[in-house]
Amino acid sequence: MAVRPLLIAHCRQLLTLRGPRELRRGSQLAELGVIRDGAVLIRNGRIEAVGSTRAVERHPLARRALKFSAKSYVVLPGFVDSHTHLIFPASRADEYEQRIAGATYERIARRGGGILSTVRKLRRTPVQRLYQQARAWLAEFAVHGTTTVEVKSGYGLNLAAELKSLEVVRRLHREGPLELVPTFLGAHVVPPEYRRRPQRYVELVVRRMIPAVAAHGLAEFCDVFCDHGAFTPAQARLILTAARVCGMELRLHAEQLARTGGARLGVELHAASVDHLERINRSDIRTLARSNTVCTLLPGAVFHLGKSTYAPARALIEAGAAVALATDFNPGTAPTVSMPMILSLACTQMRMTPAEAISAATINAAHSLRRADRLGSLEPGRQADLCGFELCDYREIPYYFGTNLCRWTLKRGQAIYDADGQIPG
Ligand SMILES: [Zn+2]
Repeated sequence: MAVRPLLIAHCRQLLTLRGPRELRRGSQLAELGVIRDGAVLIRNGRIEAVGSTRAVERHPLARRALKFSAKSYVVLPGFVDSHTHLIFPASRADEYEQRIAGATYERIARRGGGILSTVRKLRRTPVQRLYQQARAWLAEFAVHGTTTVEVKSGYGLNLAAELKSLEVVRRLHREGPLELVPTFLGAHVVPPEYRRRPQRYVELVVRRMIPAVAAHGLAEFCDVFCDHGAFTPAQARLILTAARVCGMELRLHAEQLARTGGARLGVELHAASVDHLERINRSDIRTLARSNTVCTLLPGAVFHLGKSTYAPARALIEAGAAVALATDFNPGTAPTVSMPMILSLACTQMRMTPAEAISAATINAAHSLRRADRLGSLEPGRQADLCGFELCDYREIPYYFGTNLCRWTLKRGQAIYDADGQIPG
């Protein structure tokens, strides 16, 4: 049965993010393509027309469309959360308390806490429980306006547990409604059984895990945590090169705890994204600005760890780098699914403007997942992923922090969250 088109009309502000097909850099980040009293016409999950309500109402499909008046909403593309560690067994609230009492992240990790405590638990956790917990969190992502979520493995660190995690991601993606983008992060840290022979673990990742993940078609991207206490650039190079041979695209955790050269390695290997970047220097900024590698900034982790060194977003933007924002949702350093909260941190702590932060969380994040032809902007032909915030002005999205003012979220034109039960269809 043909589904009737949906017309979302009279949006108080419609942020289209229309613009060049390339990565948004410099002053382009501030251009949101705002239409007052704007409208979006949706058919079969795709955007048919965008413009002023008056113009879109004249479209031949508009007459028979179901109509929703979005008078009290700022409407924008659904957030693309391009960096999460969604598949984890339990919180680490105990370590949160230890850190408040003065223990550092590195010291907790050396005592067997940190990522490794999550690894021990995940290996024991039944797959059904991982699935149910992740599914419940995904519903929360939708409540905060997110429609696409990149998800990394990396708490299994042996073949069986890594495959178990990625199979949960595949199942959740197939069931929907959110779109999940799977990333293999077998090189998150060296697991305890390889503590004294890390190079053997790198060989295991390269020779067994990457080919197996590729053979099962379980990951689009391969990621490495390239940092002090994790993997060196030389090890990351081996792993990422092997992943590329198996057809995966590349991303990196780089320069979070220390500057080790991960960002430069990412540029050299044409990684889709290098993430964190709190410790980069001026020369790294120049290298990143000249590249097509997206700089994905994760201020939620800096905030939750109680640190003050945020990534130099202003310098990156002013140098011409393509900046994205993501939650880094994970139980150790960034337990939040809220992109609006990440925008608040980006604005107040990294001095991004609200417009820059919105571009970074939508179109540039879509680029970093190689989906900008379909996601991240509201233009004819794009997928109808959008959300509505009950606000007068888009700048209020980061301004009102700690309160969720997202009221509805559509994925492929279908309501996946509708707080007030208003969306027809
Ligand atoms: Zn991460």
